[in-house]
Amino acid sequence: MLLTSMASTQLEPSGQLPPKDTSDGEAFSRWYITAIRRSELADYFEPVGGTMVIRPYGFSLWENMQAALDARFKATGHKNAYFPLFVPESFLRREAKHVEGFAPEVAWVTNAGGEELQERLAIRPTSETIFGHFYAKWIQSWRDLPVLINQWANIVRWEKRTVFFLRTTEFLWQEGHTAHRTSEEALEETMRMLGVYADFAETELALPVIRGEKSAAERFAGADSTFSIEALMPDGKALQAGTSHFLGQNFARAFDIDFLDQDGQRNLVWTTSWGMSTRILGGMLMAHGDDGGLVLPPRVAPIQAIIVPIPTRSDEEQARVADAVARIMKELTAASVRVEVDWTDKRPGWKFNEWELKGVPLRIEVGPRDLQHEQVTLVRRDSRAKEQVALTGVAAHVPDVLADVQQALFERARAFRDTNTHTAESYDEFKRIMQDQRGFIRAYWCGAAECEARIKEETRATIRVIPEDAEADGPGACVCDGQPATRRALFAQSY
Ligand SMILES: [Zn+2]
Repeated sequence: MLLTSMASTQLEPSGQLPPKDTSDGEAFSRWYITAIRRSELADYFEPVGGTMVIRPYGFSLWENMQAALDARFKATGHKNAYFPLFVPESFLRREAKHVEGFAPEVAWVTNAGGEELQERLAIRPTSETIFGHFYAKWIQSWRDLPVLINQWANIVRWEKRTVFFLRTTEFLWQEGHTAHRTSEEALEETMRMLGVYADFAETELALPVIRGEKSAAERFAGADSTFSIEALMPDGKALQAGTSHFLGQNFARAFDIDFLDQDGQRNLVWTTSWGMSTRILGGMLMAHGDDGGLVLPPRVAPIQAIIVPIPTRSDEEQARVADAVARIMKELTAASVRVEVDWTDKRPGWKFNEWELKGVPLRIEVGPRDLQHEQVTLVRRDSRAKEQVALTGVAAHVPDVLADVQQALFERARAFRDTNTHTAESYDEFKRIMQDQRGFIRAYWCGAAECEARIKEETRATIRVIPEDAEADGPGACVCDGQPATRRALFAQSY
């Protein structure tokens, strides 16, 4: 299991990186945790179990992801705002399913300013209720609609088992909350944002995803329907990487969000919410890394190219190396490549290992021997392929190589996903695959919650989504009880 508690791994020595052995949960976990600590992405905060600090290298990665996502939100008409951290208990209680779903993981403030509070305050586990409260005030007429707001914030959900990025007590995310005049518009928004998430994951993170609808059992507490994108991790388990909820009129009813419609009637609005968190950062690290450490997709990597000057005893040669490094730095920066140079006095081999561990997509070695031929050496992180490039051609060539690395990472992840997506026609076959190979299984499901629960109980696999192409194979028989089924659900064990 990757989800070993942080406490048990706190004393992990920070020496050699263990190999990325995805067949053994413990070994995979050690690789993941050691790679993150040694690359200085994040560290534990021992005094409060389950919390972590995102270090500058990790935060820079998150900022790049955030920028790419935020640009997509703005392009689809959303604006950012910031809502309060504290949610009064009475707010959570107004939507019955919502409070029931979140109660077990809420952290409460009961005391402040030296006094016991009259009403305890939840540290936001999500903000539907607070947005609902304000939307009731702000929305009066159909002219006020739609309202399209996103907030970037931190969230607290008290977790018993935690691991870097994938599951932490406090995490960073964005949550979009929108209100619409009609059900159709709200559903359209729900699907639009699911599409935004899928495009972001695939384009920016090179992480292929499957989108679809959650079963009723896996639905967000208070939603009419929940959609998600699901990525397959190298150990054959699924990671839910972003969710988009059609909330119907549940929160509108609970918070009296009504408006004067075009026909003079007062109607309730239709709302949606959608969120993506630092969790997907963890998924991206797991998907692309290798025995050498992290492999970051160039589009979000904090450093896209690292220049390693090769030392020489000759002053004359040293000056030529320095000149070439300065020239490459200047030209690549002008070409909008995030480039840095490592002038530390460590051995080149040591530097190669460190920058590989940190997942920098491209290394540029500038040495006296190459410079005699007016060239430098490029080494890709994903394949470790080397090539000599003319000094005059570096700036033109590097962006192409980075684009190529991005594409190669996506293709590799997609090939893995496709190889590890099975169809099961019988329950025996289903159980055998889940036992031996894991991965995604497409199987007929009759829609009964009993079948879903039995499969989960016996194989630990849940329905990840009813994929968009679930009906492609026509009708069949439920893999669990043989009842008629119209579509194949996508099953997997999950994080
Ligand atoms: Zn069934």
